[in-house]
Amino acid sequence: MSQIVRRPTRQVRVGAVRVGGDAPVVVQSMTNTDTADVTATVNQVQALAEAGSELVRITVNTAEAAAAVPRIRARLDALGCRVPLVGDFHFNGHKLLTQEPACAEALAKYRINPGNLGRGSKRDEQFSTLIDTACRYDKPVRIGVNWGSLDPALAARMMDENARLPRPLDPEVVMRRAMVASALESAAKAEELGLAGDRIVLSCKMSRVQDLIAVYRDLSAQCDYALHLGLTEAGMGSKGIVASSAALAVLLQEGIGDTIRVSLTPEPGGDRTLEVRVAQEILQALGLRAFTPQVTACPGCGRTTSTVFQELAQAIETYLRKQMPVWRSQYPGVETMQVAVMGCVVNGPGESKHANIGISLPGTGEVPVAPVYVDGEKTVTLKGERIAEEFQALVEDYVRRRYGS
Ligand code: SF4
Repeated sequence: MSQIVRRPTRQVRVGAVRVGGDAPVVVQSMTNTDTADVTATVNQVQALAEAGSELVRITVNTAEAAAAVPRIRARLDALGCRVPLVGDFHFNGHKLLTQEPACAEALAKYRINPGNLGRGSKRDEQFSTLIDTACRYDKPVRIGVNWGSLDPALAARMMDENARLPRPLDPEVVMRRAMVASALESAAKAEELGLAGDRIVLSCKMSRVQDLIAVYRDLSAQCDYALHLGLTEAGMGSKGIVASSAALAVLLQEGIGDTIRVSLTPEPGGDRTLEVRVAQEILQALGLRAFTPQVTACPGCGRTTSTVFQELAQAIETYLRKQMPVWRSQYPGVETMQVAVMGCVVNGPGESKHANIGISLPGTGEVPVAPVYVDGEKTVTLKGERIAEEFQALVEDYVRRRYGS
C-alpha cells in the first residue's frame, strides 16, 4: 500500500461511517433524481451504494422532497441498504428542516452552503437555525463552500481590503482566500453555536484544478477539520475523469482529504455509478484503498492485430467486478489481487510474473498458445477457442485457494 502520510484531522461520525482521523478516505456520491420521487431515488441510492458509495447525498430543495426523505430512508432500510444519506440544502434548508422533523432525523448529515443562506441578518438567523437543528438531532454538518456561490458579502469585503493594500494581490488569489475564509469563519460560528468540531466537515469546491489544489492546501494548513474533496462541475466523460483525477491525486498524495466525490456529468442515459467507480479507482491507483482486483493490461499495438486480447481483458475486468459483492465477504483480501492480461511475448511474461495471476496471449506470428503464471511461476499453457473461459476458471480457483478461509 501507499506511503502517503495523511494530515491529521478530527474524526466525524456520519451514521456508522467514520470520516477523518485514522479512517480510510471515504467515497461518496450524489443522486440526480427528484428526491420527491421516492422510488427513483431509492433505486439510484441503492445502485450507488452497491457500486461502493459509502455516503450518498440527496437534494432536499422542496417540502415534497423533505417529506420524501424519511420514506426513502425506510425503503432503503427495508431493502437492507444502510448507506447514510446526506441532505443537500440551499436557500430554504432552515425552513425544511424545521417543518419536517422526520427529515431532520432520517438524514445522517446535513450539507449547507454558506453562500446560499440569504443576506445580512437573515443569513445569520438561517445559519443558526441549521446549526441548532444539527445539534438537536446530533447530526454532523458539511459546510460546503462552492466557487459558484461564494458569499458575495465576504468576497466584496476581502476585495475592498485587498484594494487598500499598498500592493494589492491578484484578484484570483483574493477569491481563493475568500473561499477558505468563508469555510473557516462558518465553522467557527458553528462551534460558537454549539456544534462540536468533530461534527464539522469542510469543503471548498472549485472547478479549476490549480484553484482547487491551492485552496485545499491553504485550508488544510489552517485547520484540522475533516475535509471533503471534489472538483465541482468537473464535466463529462474523459475530461471530467481526468480533471478530477489530476486534482484529487495531487491533494491525496499530500495527505489532504478524508472523503471524496467525483462530480461527473453523466451522458444522457449514462450510468450514475461511474462517479463511484472513478473515485474508487483514484484511491486504489494511489494505494490508499483497495476495492476490486486490478487488471494490468497492456495497451496493445501492432503485435496484437486480433481483438482476442482486448475482449479477454474486458471480460476479466467485468467478471472481477461482478464477483466482488460476494467475494468481498467470502474472500477477505481479494480486493488487493493483481491480474495481468498481456498481448504478446514482449512484456507479457514479465508483467504476468509480477501479478498474482497473469496470462500472456500470443501476438501476431507467435505460436498460438498462452502461458499462465501464478505467483510468478508458469503453471499451464492454454490454447484453442476457450482460452477466456479457462483463464477465468483459473482465476476463480486461485481466489478460492489464496483468499478462502
Ligand atoms: S506487451 Fe506486446 S502487445 Fe502489449 S503493448 Fe507490449 S508489445 Fe504490444
